[in-house]
Amino acid sequence: MRSTTFRIAALASAAAFTLAACGGDDDGGGGEAGSGDGEGLTVGIKYDQPGLGLMEGSDPTGFDVDVAKAVADKLGVSEDDITWQEAPTPQREDLLVNESVDMIFATYSITDERKERVQFSGPYFVAGQDLLVAADDTEITGPDTLEGKILCSVAGSTPAERVAEEYPGVQLQEFDTYSLCVENLSSGQVDALTTDDVILAGYAAQSQWEGQFQVVGAPFSEELYGVGLNQDDERCEEINTALEELYEDGTMDQIIEDNFGAVGYTPSDANPPEIGGHCA
Ligand code: GLU
Repeated sequence: MRSTTFRIAALASAAAFTLAACGGDDDGGGGEAGSGDGEGLTVGIKYDQPGLGLMEGSDPTGFDVDVAKAVADKLGVSEDDITWQEAPTPQREDLLVNESVDMIFATYSITDERKERVQFSGPYFVAGQDLLVAADDTEITGPDTLEGKILCSVAGSTPAERVAEEYPGVQLQEFDTYSLCVENLSSGQVDALTTDDVILAGYAAQSQWEGQFQVVGAPFSEELYGVGLNQDDERCEEINTALEELYEDGTMDQIIEDNFGAVGYTPSDANPPEIGGHCA
């Protein structure tokens, strides 16, 4: 059933690549907004978030990677025609606006502020902000217990912004990636790390940190994960339909089980989310 589509996609992608190679690089390598089926896609993901988006060698793994592949398939793009690119939290809007990537699947919360520069398909998942602390920490039980503590997060993330606004007594230390925060938590340079619970569960279960950390387990926000798109991209509603189909046919449940089962993460009752309402 799929092989014909795949072959056409591969041929079209090869043609597109040739054209792009001859045609200068002024559009930064991103696909043309609203272009039809069969072209390759440049997809932004995280490279350092186990269970979500992790690059080890040249094969990325994780929930966002699997959702991206499934959506691409619905758009007629085979996974062989996806070019993966790292999309760190502080760079995501810029990567979409200057068309360095076509789409971003990277634990990317839909917010009104971000919607001023980009649009979102989805949401396709709902996570919640939480805290990661040392396994033997009994003092930190929620954001109200962080007064005077050093809390690590990532610049430009919704969790860092929420802490800065709502918990001004906390000493916030911001890095570019959560994996740097995890290293600093391990060495005792910071007391806790805050971001989405599903990301924290991935680190807590990572073999290199086994037994070192615990997720506090009291989420204090709703993070609606969307597919980030350039505002001119006409595929936004088409991707919403693709996401709906992936939930209806059981693909999403399988992807959730494959990626979160192993880390012992159970999605909240806010899942599955209502899809739509965030296209430009
Ligand atoms: N979902 C939050 C955000 O988009 C935190 C996770 C991340 O930084 O990717 O800001």
